[in-house]
Amino acid sequence: MANVFLVGAGPGDPGMLTLRAKEIIETCDIMIYDYLANADFLKWCKPECEILYVGKKGGDHTLPQDKINELIVEKAKSGKTICRLKGGDPYVFGRGGEEGEELVEAGIDFEVVPGITAGVAAPAYAGIPVTHRDFTTSVCFITGHEDPTKGESGNNWAVYGQSNSTLVFYMGVGNLPMIAKNLMDNGRAADTPVALVRWGTRCNQESFVSTLENVAEEAKARNFKAPSIIIVGGVCSLHDKLAWFEKKPMLGKGVVVTRAREQASGLVDILRGHGACVHEFPTISVDHLDDYNEVETAILQLARYQWVVFTSVNGVKFFWEQLNTIGLDSRIFGGMQIAAIGPATADELRARGIMPDFVPEKYVAEHVVEGLLKLGVQGQDVLIPRARVAREVLPEELKKAGCNVTVLPVYETRLVQQSGDEIVAALDNGDIQYITFTSSSTVENFFELVPAYTLRKYPDVKLASIGPVTSKTLSGFGFTASIEPEDYTIPGLVGALVDDLG
Ligand code: SAH
Repeated sequence: MANVFLVGAGPGDPGMLTLRAKEIIETCDIMIYDYLANADFLKWCKPECEILYVGKKGGDHTLPQDKINELIVEKAKSGKTICRLKGGDPYVFGRGGEEGEELVEAGIDFEVVPGITAGVAAPAYAGIPVTHRDFTTSVCFITGHEDPTKGESGNNWAVYGQSNSTLVFYMGVGNLPMIAKNLMDNGRAADTPVALVRWGTRCNQESFVSTLENVAEEAKARNFKAPSIIIVGGVCSLHDKLAWFEKKPMLGKGVVVTRAREQASGLVDILRGHGACVHEFPTISVDHLDDYNEVETAILQLARYQWVVFTSVNGVKFFWEQLNTIGLDSRIFGGMQIAAIGPATADELRARGIMPDFVPEKYVAEHVVEGLLKLGVQGQDVLIPRARVAREVLPEELKKAGCNVTVLPVYETRLVQQSGDEIVAALDNGDIQYITFTSSSTVENFFELVPAYTLRKYPDVKLASIGPVTSKTLSGFGFTASIEPEDYTIPGLVGALVDDLG
C-alpha cells in the first residue's frame, strides 16, 4: 500500500472536494499543503497530524519546488501517511507530475487523487460551459505564465489563433495584454468573447465578460488580479444566461454567525447556500453540567408531571442523553403532554418518536403561556428542562397562572474565551455586512469579546436579531437590530437577511 497521496483539493468551494480526498485528509499523519487549497479542509486532520505549509502566493515562495520535493521524499521515508494537498487537480499546472517523478526516483509508492480543476469549475460557476456544440469542438488548458521578455513562447499561438477551441488560461492575468495580442495577431477576431473569473466557486467569486480587443484594458480598470481563470471563445457569451451562482442573493456578503458551534451548522449551511461569506464566531459553547443527580431524580419521578415543556433543541438532546444513560427511553413519557417552543425543538422530539401536543405559533415565552393556558395547564405540574441560566418569563408566567412549575437545568451555556481580533480585522477590511444574533446570550457574549465602542465605529454593519427579546438585549447596548424576522426561527432570520438585500 502506498503511503503518499498527491491529492487535489478542488477549486475552493469545500463541496468540490472528492470523497477520496476527504478520506485521506482525515487519516493522514502528515499534511503538506499549498496556498490555493482551501485551508478550511485542515480542520478534518487528526489532532496529532503534522501540518506543513509550503504554499506560494504570487512570486513569494515559501519553499522552492526542489525543497518541496525533498521534503515530501524525506517525510515519505518515515513510512507515515502523507497527504500532499494541492489546489484544483494535482496534475493540472500543479507540478504534481514533478513531485511524482521525484517519488518514483526515490523508490516511494504513491497514489493520485484527481481534483476538480479551476479551469473547468470556475467557468461553470460563472455560467460558462467550456464546451458547447454550438460554439466549439475542443477545449485547451494553457499556462498564461510565460515570461514576456523571453524571446520564444512555448505556446503555439498560431494554432490557438486559428482554431475555434475554447481556450482556458491559468496564471494569466499579469500577461493578459500579451495573450490577447498574440491571439488577435494569429487570427482570432477582435470581438471574440473573453471572460475572467476570479476566486471561482468561492463566495468572493467575481467575473466579467469582454472581448479580445478590450479585455486587457477592462481588467486593468477593474483591478482584476490573480487567482483568475481566463476563458476565450464563443462559450463566454452564455455567461449571462447560465450564471446560476452569481445570481445567489447573498453572494459575497460577509455574515458573522455568533451561535454556539454545536448549533451553528444549520444557519451556516443556509447562509452558504445563499452565497454568503460566513465568519463563524461562536460566542457561547453548550456544555454538560458538572452533576446530573438532580436530572436523574426528576426523570425517575417523571410520572408526577402532567406537562413537559422543551424550550430548545439542546434541552431535548441533553434530557434524552440522561434518559438513555440510566437505561430509559421515550416510553417514560407515557400519556404525559409535551410542548415544544419552536419548530426545531419539535423536530428534535419527533426524531425521538414524540409528537408534541403543543407548538406555539410565535416562539416567545409570552405566547407559549397563552397557548398552554388554552390547553388547560392551570393547576397542573409542569417540568421545564432547559439551560441553567435562561429567561424566567415562561416559568414565572406559568406560576402566575397557577401551575406547579419545576425548572430542570440539563445543560449550560458558557462564554467562549476567544479573541475578537479576527472579527475586528474583518470589520476593518470592510468584509462584514451583517452580524447575526440568535439569543440574548450571543449578544452579551459578543460584546464581551468585541466591545460596543469598537462596533460603533462601523455604522454600516447591520445587526440581525432572531426576535424581539434578542433585539431588546441589543438595545441595552445601544444598538438597534435593523433586521428581525416575523417568524422567530433560523430560516426566518435568513429570509429576513435575503429580503434586506432586496
Ligand atoms: N492545480 C490547479 C491550478 C494551479 S495553477 C488547478 O487544477 O486548478 C494556479 C492558477 O489556477 C491560478 O493562477 C489561477 O489561474 C487558477 N486558479 C486556481 N484556483 C482558482 C479559482 N478558485 N478561481 C480562479 N482561478 C483559479
